[in-house]
Amino acid sequence: MSKDENLVEDKMQIDQHDSDRLQKNVPDGFSEDYLKVYYGKLFPCVDIYRWLSYGNDGKHPACDQSYFGRREFSFTLENDIYLRFLSFNNVVEMESSIRKKCPFKIDIGPVYTVDPAKRRAYAQGGNNVFSPIERELVFDIDMSDYDDVRYCCSGADVCLDCWPLMNVAIKVLDMSLREDFGFNHILWVYSGRRGVHCWVCDGRARRLRDEQRASIAEYFHVNKGGENNAKKVNLTGAVLHPFLARSYTEVLKDSFEKKMLLSQKLFASEDRFQKILQIIPDDSIASELLDKWQGNRRSSISKEDVNVSRWEQLKHVLQSGKHKVQGLRRCVEEIIFTYTFPRLDMEVSKHMNHLLKAPFCVHPKTGRICVPIDPNDCDDFDPTTVPTLSQLIEELNMSNKRSESEEDWERTSLRKSIEIFRSFLSALLKSCKKEINSNVRQSTDARNW
Ligand SMILES: [Zn+2]
Repeated sequence: MSKDENLVEDKMQIDQHDSDRLQKNVPDGFSEDYLKVYYGKLFPCVDIYRWLSYGNDGKHPACDQSYFGRREFSFTLENDIYLRFLSFNNVVEMESSIRKKCPFKIDIGPVYTVDPAKRRAYAQGGNNVFSPIERELVFDIDMSDYDDVRYCCSGADVCLDCWPLMNVAIKVLDMSLREDFGFNHILWVYSGRRGVHCWVCDGRARRLRDEQRASIAEYFHVNKGGENNAKKVNLTGAVLHPFLARSYTEVLKDSFEKKMLLSQKLFASEDRFQKILQIIPDDSIASELLDKWQGNRRSSISKEDVNVSRWEQLKHVLQSGKHKVQGLRRCVEEIIFTYTFPRLDMEVSKHMNHLLKAPFCVHPKTGRICVPIDPNDCDDFDPTTVPTLSQLIEELNMSNKRSESEEDWERTSLRKSIEIFRSFLSALLKSCKKEINSNVRQSTDARNW
């Protein structure tokens, strides 16, 4: 054997050894050692602190210095050890606690009347002063709630064929939160596995009471059918509510006809089109279509996609003048709403003291970072290429700082995500400053009276 052949064989053994080691320690990227490096070098602690301080971190006389310290954090440690009611007085305390405890998950709760870590001491004082007073309005949308309308995957799995349903949810909610409710500071975050979180951060949203949160969640609650009920959406009234009409024309219709119809092959087999036909309230129309499709077993001569042609036939039958039956007019819309309209986890939005996973956490099952999503660019977001913990550590190891001032995240693929977060943050903090200044003016005016 020549010297060169020996070298090749040695190298192969090393590679084999490396890949064994990687597979054993980091199943797609999660290990406590990596997490330590991540919290030490990449997790944007200062940005998160500035976000949750809402301007109350400066020297301004109107700043509420106790504000950040009254926010509840919760850590989930290895082996599901769960620490609730943690609080930090400043960014240094928060950062050192995260680095020391190395939580597998960090959740963010509400701001309480008093420091949540000292709630027992206050309770002993006799008066019941410990209660939540502020919290972002939050929404949680999970792909597992769409299992009856997707065929590519199920449960916690997602792929590029079903992910457009999340983009629909982002677009519909984002548009309505801005246009119908007048909110401006909205942060969208990938939950790390099967869905997205939304944080509405305007002062007005943070101070909503639970009943108000529940009514907003109800406003977005259109899919009311039970699990075994094919018809999930009932659109009643002479005209659609403006919010529903706008969602339909600007988001749902296109997403259904140009994406979901084809990617989910919604009419490709009998069980699939039967499910859609069940939504039609008129039995004779449903069986007319059924007969047509059952007899017409995919003519291979037709160039048109079977899903498109069947959908066009259904629309034609329902919308033709022949069937002006009450209830049928809306059926096409109802089908599209059933298959695309956002499905919220209502309980998360209704209560101020519901915890929600912090942005930039690492999902322990996938190793993926919970990165912010730019709602204007959500069509480009690909959950399958979100950076993983192991990928980021490798990027750190493979590159060197290009200058003294360069931060570690700048030379990893977390860069874009931190830039999205900072752009949200800079607009938010500008408006917080304004609000704090106007509070000062108001209290000075009141004194001058
Ligand atoms: Zn899928």
